[in-house]
Amino acid sequence: MTAEIVSVGTELLLGQIVDTDAVHLAAVLPEYGVVCHRRQTVGDNRERLAEALRLALSRADLVFTIGGLGPTEDDLTREAIADALEEGMEEDPRIAERLLKFFAMRNLPWTESQLRQAQRPASSEPIENPNGTAPGLICRKQAKFVVALPGPKGEFVPMVEGPVRKLLASLQTNQVIRSRILKTCGIGESWVEERVRQWMQADNPTVAPYAHPGEVHLRVSARAKDDEEAERLLKPVEAALRAELGEAVYGVDDDTLEGVLIRELCHRGEKLAVAESCTGGGLGERLTRVPGCSGTFLGGIISYSNEVKARQLGVSGKTLREHGAVSEPCAREMAEGARRSLAADWGVSITGIAGPDGGLEHKPVGQVIIGVAGPKGTAVSEHRFRGSREQIRLRSVQWALIELRNALGK
Ligand code: ATP
Ligand code: MG
Repeated sequence: MTAEIVSVGTELLLGQIVDTDAVHLAAVLPEYGVVCHRRQTVGDNRERLAEALRLALSRADLVFTIGGLGPTEDDLTREAIADALEEGMEEDPRIAERLLKFFAMRNLPWTESQLRQAQRPASSEPIENPNGTAPGLICRKQAKFVVALPGPKGEFVPMVEGPVRKLLASLQTNQVIRSRILKTCGIGESWVEERVRQWMQADNPTVAPYAHPGEVHLRVSARAKDDEEAERLLKPVEAALRAELGEAVYGVDDDTLEGVLIRELCHRGEKLAVAESCTGGGLGERLTRVPGCSGTFLGGIISYSNEVKARQLGVSGKTLREHGAVSEPCAREMAEGARRSLAADWGVSITGIAGPDGGLEHKPVGQVIIGVAGPKGTAVSEHRFRGSREQIRLRSVQWALIELRNALGK
């Protein structure tokens, strides 16, 4: 069974809002074995919307619309569905009555335009919307469905989680699609691709890599008749990929790199401190996203100036004079200084040139040095990152986590 999602709204086309509703729905469909091949986004225009729906109906069994169900003139989804299905509109007295009650109970001023929401294509059934005024709609035409859902998140999500899931379950596709995400760090996408090519050519499960800054995620998806069979298909491929990628795999699914590291440090009963220059606290921010990080993370020093590097972290005047703040000796002393002054087991430092100015020939923008001081000594690594100031800062934080992971031998 195939689906297509049609998101409606000029706001979406103008880039004023992000289509989070479609993302939510797209993640639900595979659970019921429904394959979404395409998504469309259309503005608030009746003709273009009807055209998009006709196209969607010509190639998918299930068409979902998102938005444009409200009471105003630019809410045209109902009419466009009727156009596409070549049927008329009817006023639904049950919806009209519900609307009147809704307004009376909340003492809201009534306008006749509200009744637009009681209009629906002749073949449709309303889906109750306890969180707003506009009901959703289910239209059945031969073997095809059009399901119209309201845009506001507070209405959309409950409608998907309730009635839409019920509808999907009733379709009995006898199929589920289950995915596992294997997360790797510290290796490039092409390296991963090279290693996993043979599985990428397979058809069930399918394997596809996605690149993120400093990470490559592999999505492994299996089509099966139920969860158990899907698991049986996923397991050996996951094991083979893990064997191929080895240490690079740090986690699966909802795992995050910072989360895995915090878990490991808590498990070991070891404490962590940071010393940050060019990232200005970004590493601390990332670590403190993890609930329970207080079990290991003590804090850090944002040593942006040389004075703070010297005074708070004990970086020597000689190092700063002879090598400068962006240097291996400085990163080393910063990491050791954080470890010592915060009485931690591990100290991680970042110092670099985030740009856009301040680069030199031998120290260009993007040069970042990361230090990791631990119980068995200190490791320092030099990096050259590309991109904007923000990208360089982001990558610096990411690689500090990767270097910490390397030092932990995890
Ligand atoms: P209303 O009854 O509020 O008019 P509606 O069903 O007609 O709802 P729209 O008018 O298209 O929906 O959008 C209303 C609001 O819902 C938008 O301003 C936006 O905040 C949110 N919204 C709409 N579509 C989406 C979407 N695809 N993803 C996320 N949010 C959305
Ligand atoms: Mg609207």
